[in-house]
Amino acid sequence: SPLASENLINSFENDANLIFLRSNENPYGPSPLARKAFAENVNISNRYNWDIEAQIISAIALKNSVKDENILLGAGSTEILDLVAKFVSLDKGNYVIADPSYDYWTVTLDNFGLTKNKVPLTADKKINLKAMVEAVNQNTKLVYICNPNNPTGTICKREALVEFVTNISQNTIVLIDETYLDFTKQQSLSNIVTDHKNIIIAKTFSKMYGLAGARIGYAIADKTLIDNLSNLQSNTNNSVSVLSKLAAIASLKDEKFVSNCYLLNENVRQYTISELKKLNCECITSNTNFIYFSLVKYNKDYFKQLEDNNIEGGRIYEEQGKWTRITVGKMDEMKKFIKAIQ
Ligand code: PLP
Repeated sequence: SPLASENLINSFENDANLIFLRSNENPYGPSPLARKAFAENVNISNRYNWDIEAQIISAIALKNSVKDENILLGAGSTEILDLVAKFVSLDKGNYVIADPSYDYWTVTLDNFGLTKNKVPLTADKKINLKAMVEAVNQNTKLVYICNPNNPTGTICKREALVEFVTNISQNTIVLIDETYLDFTKQQSLSNIVTDHKNIIIAKTFSKMYGLAGARIGYAIADKTLIDNLSNLQSNTNNSVSVLSKLAAIASLKDEKFVSNCYLLNENVRQYTISELKKLNCECITSNTNFIYFSLVKYNKDYFKQLEDNNIEGGRIYEEQGKWTRITVGKMDEMKKFIKAIQ
């Protein structure tokens, strides 16, 4: 009805007044080429268009210098993480994860009865690879490394990570979540998957490529592992819409957009960190599009300040140190954020 559509428009307008600094989305995206692809292909949404699956898989394989058989598409990296959780849960045991790290998806592991083995970060909030190795035992089914880590934004050195996964993956599956690697200059671990049967890399178009709502991500792994994960997908090769696949193909060609976003993020992040420091907030060096900082020495009610100013921020992660996370938005949004908490 006309009324319903009016309400819808109003609700969008209300949303426009909010500043979203909670979910690490790209404030500039989707890329111009992706927008064009969405607009130009609406008319083919009536067909399944199975052949487009092969096109996006080839484009992703090419970008990551692997074969098509090493790629599995999912509705965001969330679907990939969920498939890995289901796969490793076929056999009972435990899983090893840093704490804090990105763990919304591990509810599947918990529901299937795996035991969570949490490994504290180092004092400077880095993933403690040595302690992770020590936490692994003969019943470990999965080791998860988020690199760079969410919520801390810290990164593992590549050589140390390669050594870690090479060693650990001999006996257990290792899942490397590279959701935020596009915000760094570090090379993906994609080049080692074909030599190591138990490594899975999860990647997404949600962050740097600005397609969070389009829901498209992927796994890179050895062919056998990809086949095993694919067998657990109820709608094999069809969970991502045709429009999202075409937008992702276009995004991969839009290198200018990616390099612009990279530089904008660096610049706005630097500004935000320097302002947070002026407010006595200790900040962890970030390799991502978000910042992990402490409210211990901040003397106002941070969350009330955000609420009063229509800003959606993160939550508290480590109660004692009052650590929280804020997404790096556009410069004008971060100026409003800083003004709100000053
Ligand atoms: N992995 C990490 C580390 C994340 O931060 C997120 C989302 O915030 C995801 C995976 C899931 O992202 P998506 O399903 O949108 O690809």
